[in-house]
Amino acid sequence: MSKPLIGITTRNSKDADGHPLTALQHSYSAAILQAGGVPIPIPSILEAENWRDLYFRLAGILFSGGGDVSLEYFSGADHPRVSGVDPLRDSTEIALMRAAANDGKPILGICRGAQLMNVALGGTLYTHIPDQVENALDHAYPTNLRKVLVHSVTIDKDSRSAKIFGETLLNVNSLHHQALKDIAPSLRVVGRAPDGIVEAVEISDHPYAVAVQWHPEWLTGQLPTQKLFKSFVAASGKSSIENRESI
Ligand code: MN
Repeated sequence: MSKPLIGITTRNSKDADGHPLTALQHSYSAAILQAGGVPIPIPSILEAENWRDLYFRLAGILFSGGGDVSLEYFSGADHPRVSGVDPLRDSTEIALMRAAANDGKPILGICRGAQLMNVALGGTLYTHIPDQVENALDHAYPTNLRKVLVHSVTIDKDSRSAKIFGETLLNVNSLHHQALKDIAPSLRVVGRAPDGIVEAVEISDHPYAVAVQWHPEWLTGQLPTQKLFKSFVAASGKSSIENRESI
């Protein structure tokens, strides 16, 4: 059986001369490879007729971390700390997310990916946790602490995520200053930090759609993290076989 092709969303950057560049940290691709999938970076410049041709070939999509989602897609308070807004990335990812949510194509959302899932499906975000959530923990650790476990996440016992991780109390890293606020109608919150901040969601009534607010791609030495990526790649492989058989 061939390995499933897993699309991974990317950010737009620039090279030293200012030319536009597609950027993706290796950690995402390495985690997919480790779990038995083949990573395919998705350029965040695709118009509708092009992303559909790529989309149909992908077995699953990983929505990666990155800058903040533009306020034009949800009602949220503008804040001076909103940064890294990437309109081409937003439009590419929102189209992909809505299609995958609707078609039952496996989805894994990470950090921005969880926020994007909520916004694409009708939810909203806190645009800067420290100013909008009372008594919140520090969630925005500096990027040199990607592998440091800084807070716990309690996972609902009867959720799909509990089965995936095999545990209901996880210790995670935290590199985000925004968080999910009003939850999209089709989403279910299945994991929270001790301060109540949403850290894991699932799309109800979907074969595999899980999103986490932390960065598991830096924690691939942990057993629960390995189970997360393996279950996502396995669900993607199963989904692509079923789609092939139905053609
Ligand atoms: Mn956090």
